[in-house]
Amino acid sequence: MLDTTPFLVGTERPFRLADHDPAARIGFEGGKHEGRSALGAMTTRLAELQRHLWAEGQRAVLVVLQAMDTGGKDGTIRHVFSGVNPQGVRVWSFGAPTELELAHDYLWRVHLRTPERGTITIFNRSHYEDVIVVRVRGLVPEERWARRFEHIRQFERMLADEGTVIVKVFINISKEEQRVRLQKRLDDPEKRWKFRRGDLDDRRLWDPFQTAYEEAVTQTSTEYAPWYVVPGDRKWYRNLVVSSILVRTLEQMDPRLPPPEPGLDDVVVQ
Ligand code: ADP
Repeated sequence: MLDTTPFLVGTERPFRLADHDPAARIGFEGGKHEGRSALGAMTTRLAELQRHLWAEGQRAVLVVLQAMDTGGKDGTIRHVFSGVNPQGVRVWSFGAPTELELAHDYLWRVHLRTPERGTITIFNRSHYEDVIVVRVRGLVPEERWARRFEHIRQFERMLADEGTVIVKVFINISKEEQRVRLQKRLDDPEKRWKFRRGDLDDRRLWDPFQTAYEEAVTQTSTEYAPWYVVPGDRKWYRNLVVSSILVRTLEQMDPRLPPPEPGLDDVVVQ
């Protein structure tokens, strides 16, 4: 299995995106073809571990996925979780908050969606939008968003203490790769529906977004809820890295099948 430690931010400070190459292909000799077959093996293993997590029913896994626009969150979810039983996995996509959500604190809608014991939940965007887009677009004053790093550390600490294993992944694409992907959306009739003019506004704010990500990752990468920064320019490599991170995480958790009822050895079904 791929060594995932090069992508682990851990408590490295300060975290700089410049130290992480979006086109990197660390620890894997093959190309796209080999990468795809390696992913096949990982998705099978992930499915097996997920079955054990479900059977154990004691702990949960929360996967937080963040990226710049076109970063590949949707594609990652589609490929990495293709083998797992849908019953034990949920995906929540967080868009701009509704009126009801805005009437509560920013973690309310997030806490509602955290995983039940025995299951995996993937957050497609998350509470990190509340210190990233909210900051870049000036949706709340600095004194409010700046306090949120502490709230988030405490919130994640509480989830971890109560049995949720948290894995946070930032898919790191280059500005040039984003240009290519946005242009493809415009040019491909199958993809044009995904293009929003607002994507270009966000692209103009590339640098402030990168700064906001750097600070969010620096402030919230902890031992109990670490960030991984995954090279995003090659889709097959990104998928392989993310699935390796999840397989490794679940292997470390080592979910156990519950013991069978005693005395079943002589039971024969008639
Ligand atoms: P995606 O881009 O993830 O495929 P959408 O096109 O539905 O999904 O975009 C979701 C939008 O919601 C993004 O522009 C994102 O910045 C915005 N959003 C998410 N969370 C928040 C938040 N807490 N406050 C403001 N905007 C948010």
